[in-house]
This record gives sequence, C-alpha cells and structure tokens, in this order.
Amino acid sequence: MAQGTSFLNARAYAYMHRAHHAFSDTENDPHSPHYYKNVVTMMIQTAKIYYGYVKKEFPITKETKGYVPEWKSLEELGDTWGFRIGWIVFYSAIYLYFLPPDYWWVALIAVPMHSLMGPMHGAIVNWCGHKYGYSNFDNKDYSKNTLLMDFLMMGELYQNNHHTYPRRLNFAVKWWEFDPTYWITKVLKKLHIIKLST
Ligand SMILES: [Zn+2]
Repeated sequence: MAQGTSFLNARAYAYMHRAHHAFSDTENDPHSPHYYKNVVTMMIQTAKIYYGYVKKEFPITKETKGYVPEWKSLEELGDTWGFRIGWIVFYSAIYLYFLPPDYWWVALIAVPMHSLMGPMHGAIVNWCGHKYGYSNFDNKDYSKNTLLMDFLMMGELYQNNHHTYPRRLNFAVKWWEFDPTYWITKVLKKLHIIKLST
C-alpha cells in the first residue's frame, strides 16, 4: 500500500541488494555509479538486473543466499500494469480533489513525480550515496554519507555507515547524524505493526 506505483518485489530486491553489498563498487555491483556514464544508464541496468531476479533467471550464489520473504499473490499483483495505473488514477483523483480549481495544472507535475518516487529514490541513493559526501569509515568502496542530516532520502544517504554496518537498523552513527526511518521503525514496532528480527 505504501509503495503504490513503485511496488518492488522484496525477494528480488533482497537478492540484488546483497549482491550490491558483496560487490560494492566493483564491476559485479548491480548499480555502482563508477561504471556508468550517467544516472539513467545505471538505473536501466539496475532495472534489468532487478527483473532478472524477479523472473528467477539468476542463480543464487554464496554472496546472495539467505532468507527472503515471498508473497506470491502480492508480488504478482504489484507488478501488473493494471495495479500501477490504478495507483496513478488514485493519485490524480486525490490531487484534483484537493487542489484549488485554478491550480489543477500542479497535478501534471506532481502526479508523475509521485508515481516515480521509488525509482527516483533509488537513483538518488545509488548515484549520490556512492559518489558525493563524506566518509566515516574506510570500507574499501566508494560509499559516502551524502548529507549530514539526511532528511531527503530518510536516512538512506548514509551509505558509508550502511556499508560498514549493513545489519545495523540505525544508519546514523555519529551524534549529529539522524536517520528518520530508524525512528519510524521503532514506532511501528511499538504499535505491533512490524517485528524486528535483529
Ligand atoms: Zn550502497
């Protein structure tokens, strides 16, 4: 429900993300910005690899193996054009209902942006988080913490921290860093909506 048009198959994403960690910024990394001319070619290749995992075309190796959730009917539904277009219609209806009549044109900008939030988020994190910013740790790749306070990507731009401590829920390490998603996760756990395994 929260991902809407940007629905990603958790199983496929988990395998791809494990490969990203195992081969970070090498030629086997599914989306290292250091192997692409621009962000668009990187994301096209990322999408190809992601769909390879969705269709189970790639073997599961020692680097990618491990627990993955599988929700077959949700995954099939989430990946259909009908489902994604349905969300776009829903977003458009919300914008057109709440926008003042003279501002209907705002929907022309807001709906495409809203509909592509997942890929835009991925593009910004994968590109900037391995190219621009500062490092707290030398972990032998190009991962960076792009912003001191990551309000923009909800904590995911602390890539240098995340690659150093991949199983740490809180991506913020230094006292001035703040990972909003960590605190949202804590609230969801308190409300018994999610369980934490680590
Ligand atoms: Zn990374």
